[in-house]
Amino acid sequence: MEKQTIHKDVVIIGSGPAGLTAAIYTGRANLAPLLVDAPADAVKQTSPGGQLMITTEVENYPGFAEGIQGPELMEEFRKQAERFGTEFLEAWITKVELHQRPFTLHTDEHIIKAQTLIIASGASAKWLGVPGEAKTPEGFGGNGVSACATCDGPLPAFRNKVLVVVGGGDTAMEEATFLTRYAAKVYVVHRRAKLRASKIMQDKALANEKIEFVWNTALEEILGTPEDGVTGVRLKNLQTGAEQVFPCAGVFIAIGHKPNTDLFRGQIEIDEVGYIKTSGHSTSTNIAGVFACGDVQDSVYRQAVTAAGTGCMSAIDAERFLDHLPVAMPTGDEVTIEGEHITPDHKTIIEPDGTMISNVAAATAALDEC
Ligand SMILES: Cc1cc2nc3c(=O)[nH]c(=O)nc-3n(C[C@H](O)[C@H](O)[C@H](O)COP(=O)(O)OP(=O)(O)OC[C@H]3O[C@@H](n4cnc5c(N)ncnc54)[C@H](O)[C@@H]3O)c2cc1C
Repeated sequence: MEKQTIHKDVVIIGSGPAGLTAAIYTGRANLAPLLVDAPADAVKQTSPGGQLMITTEVENYPGFAEGIQGPELMEEFRKQAERFGTEFLEAWITKVELHQRPFTLHTDEHIIKAQTLIIASGASAKWLGVPGEAKTPEGFGGNGVSACATCDGPLPAFRNKVLVVVGGGDTAMEEATFLTRYAAKVYVVHRRAKLRASKIMQDKALANEKIEFVWNTALEEILGTPEDGVTGVRLKNLQTGAEQVFPCAGVFIAIGHKPNTDLFRGQIEIDEVGYIKTSGHSTSTNIAGVFACGDVQDSVYRQAVTAAGTGCMSAIDAERFLDHLPVAMPTGDEVTIEGEHITPDHKTIIEPDGTMISNVAAATAALDEC
């Protein structure tokens, strides 16, 4: 089947808080953005709307004094983006070509040509890589092993049972606390003797009578049968080396998230963990016209409100770029859509063919205006 070609000024990848905010802003700027987001997939755990689709109450998103359910919040974001003319395409972006503009993006059925690209592909759950963790039939994934308590915790297989949560950060504390609504007991297995989670999350979990901590311990293997699913885990005490089989009916892996950047490797600057590098002053990447926002470029804050904030920045950066205005790059240079580079000291403009032009008069005039 021949692929359909779509041409757009602004293409956004991802419909989490970052992508939808970028869509609201670029839509209001009459740029008719195209937002591409992966379809719902139980195995890959994707859902249009991003990570907040797998949570319940969001209590810290400003403007909702009583809190709001994650999926409900994302539905509101989406309606607002629709209202300003965002076009939605439910598909995986499988390949990108960013060496020249327009950038080319591929889905199974489309070739998308984009003058500017906003990457808001977020982050995904990390796995341990231990035996028994893989999806059924290779392991017990989907048959007692999960990375999403909110999605799977209420299932009958886990009700009134002993469950294990692996991890020591915020995700693990949130998952363990949530699971106590259904489980008889939740054991949090952590490699260290100290939690990495924020104080408020630790306090909540430590005070919960249904949660018990198994310190200095690694989960080595998930055990079970195809008929019964998970029946236990093999644990190893990292201080003594002692191993034990610990009976349980479910395992929730909660060791954090990995930025969804595999698609961009080798084409865009990424840090050692995998986050896209952006300029401190803008959401520019090292490629002029490609912007990144939300969890895909944020290893520090990773919140819905910060994702939405950088989504707004990306949209304004893309608007400026399309308006022939210079945008700040990670190198400190500013770049225009024509390929002109303005040096960090604003004294020189370098044309695409390498010609250097003095920008001193313009820089002085700008200072005079101040
Ligand atoms: C269980 C849980 C609870 C949370 N609770 C809160 C909370 O209470 N408050 C708070 O502020 N934050 C919370 N967070 C964090 C918050 O969800 C994230 O910070 C936020 O969703 C990040 O938004 P984003 O737009 O950057 O990316 P995401 O929400 O991760 O969305 C990215 C989207 O891009 C899509 N995508 C990725 N690759 C591709 C591709 N190749 N092609 C097409 N689409 C692609 C993904 O499928 C996804 O839909 C929670 C997170 C989790 C996991």
